[in-house]
Amino acid sequence: MAASLARLLQSRGLSVTIQKFDPYINVDPGTLNPYEHGECYVTNDGAETDLDLGHYERFLNVPTSQANNVTTGRIYKTVIDNEREGLYLGKTVQIIPHITDEIKRRMTLLGKSGKFDIVITEIGGTVGDMESTPFLEAVRQLQWEMPDGDCIVLHLTLVPFLHAAQELKTKPTQHSVKMLQQEGIKPDIIVCRTEVPIPDAMKRKIALFCNVKADSVFENQDAKSIYEVPLLLHMQGLDDIVLKKLKFRNIPQPDLTDWQNFLNKLFSPKSEVDVALVGKYVELQDAYKSIQEAFVHAGAVNLCKVHVHTVHSEYLDASNLKEKLKGMDGILVAPGFGGRGIEGKILAVKYARENKIPFFGICLGMQMAVIEYARDVLKLKDACSTEVRPQTKNPVIDLMEEQKTLTTKGGTMRLGAYDCRLKEGTLAYKIYGSKMIAERHRHRYEFNEQYADMMEKAGLVLSGRNPQTGLVEIVELPQKVHPFFIGVQFHPELSSTVLKPQPIFVNFVKAAMKHRSGK
Ligand code: GLN
Repeated sequence: MAASLARLLQSRGLSVTIQKFDPYINVDPGTLNPYEHGECYVTNDGAETDLDLGHYERFLNVPTSQANNVTTGRIYKTVIDNEREGLYLGKTVQIIPHITDEIKRRMTLLGKSGKFDIVITEIGGTVGDMESTPFLEAVRQLQWEMPDGDCIVLHLTLVPFLHAAQELKTKPTQHSVKMLQQEGIKPDIIVCRTEVPIPDAMKRKIALFCNVKADSVFENQDAKSIYEVPLLLHMQGLDDIVLKKLKFRNIPQPDLTDWQNFLNKLFSPKSEVDVALVGKYVELQDAYKSIQEAFVHAGAVNLCKVHVHTVHSEYLDASNLKEKLKGMDGILVAPGFGGRGIEGKILAVKYARENKIPFFGICLGMQMAVIEYARDVLKLKDACSTEVRPQTKNPVIDLMEEQKTLTTKGGTMRLGAYDCRLKEGTLAYKIYGSKMIAERHRHRYEFNEQYADMMEKAGLVLSGRNPQTGLVEIVELPQKVHPFFIGVQFHPELSSTVLKPQPIFVNFVKAAMKHRSGK
């Protein structure tokens, strides 16, 4: 919803950003298990953030930063640090005004940068959650403080459809608006999430009972693709109403040509491929959100429907490998942490390498490709990562030097965008078409330089290195040996957007199409 509205406003020539305020107490989601909260998204400036920031970037094609994601934990940490420094001059520190003031300070930070015409602030959770109360109070105060028309509130509610009774229910909407009003906030616009269209009469009823204007109730119906949502909202005139309420005048209609072109391609594929996503968090759809979306973008430019089949690495072994990976046109080995499921990942790499199936390893997936090569080609049977086997005699993947002295977990990995220099004539160079690239990282372990010569002599190409530290960031096999085999230490999926699909994904899909047609 936030991303779609932002996209519409941006398409009308306005400069827009979105920030997410999350009421939980973790300082950031970096320490959260993917099962708890889905993927952790990383910004260029190295913030570990909510996965919604990924949607914001994919829709807006503009990078976000640390300032775009704030949690209760971060707010409290600032306030408590201020208190310890004596900044409150002996005052009793309280939720109101100290916590709410800090929330307001952060909510207005991006706006004050002068870079944006509109800042959309998404507040996570649900009205009525105990944890969201200070955020709602901050919104109430902000709306009171700002000039009329500078701040509007859009309330997103669920209108359930009871299949047994074939009936839509507006009661939950009425109740949540009531609770919002108890907090002193009157929504300006209500958007209803729904499975089926909401009749006009029902929209009028919602408007009347919830005290909003009749033209200010919109539906946000389940769509074939989330990328269709901006168009569906525009057809109802949501962006017009938002601009009217914010007192913008003479803003041109949105130019959605590129967006529509993307959707046309997405909805009329000429071919299809099957790709395996081998990981251990496959039970939760959101754990690999950016990878899934990067395949949507890369599929569309190639006019190819990419069927992503998740394969649980923990249950992958020599006895079922063939059966589980049968018919795959590409194998992607996913990022991850810890030892669970890594032998399955190593088997998947081996299968892709030996059977010449396009292979793409991301972060831990790249590390597994290195281990597999060391074990099978260099005959270092005990090769491993010290993350998994600290005592291994052949630590081909080892803790980065600067990580060895760290004792805290939150925000201490190698995080954010780093430059990477590509070797000319390699697959990576061909894919990116440039010598220097930058991609985002989130890891503690690295390719162990001591094995670099040995690996290269045995045929593994180290095609990308960090220009400052020399760290190996990309490994690959020459294309005369394997049609497409690449492992990257960074997370290319994080920089894929609708209008700028990520080049490794685009070329991986191309390789998968070729594999398919060669069958
Ligand atoms: N666990 C590995 C490391 O820390 C890989 C991390 C990842 O896949 N994001 O280096």
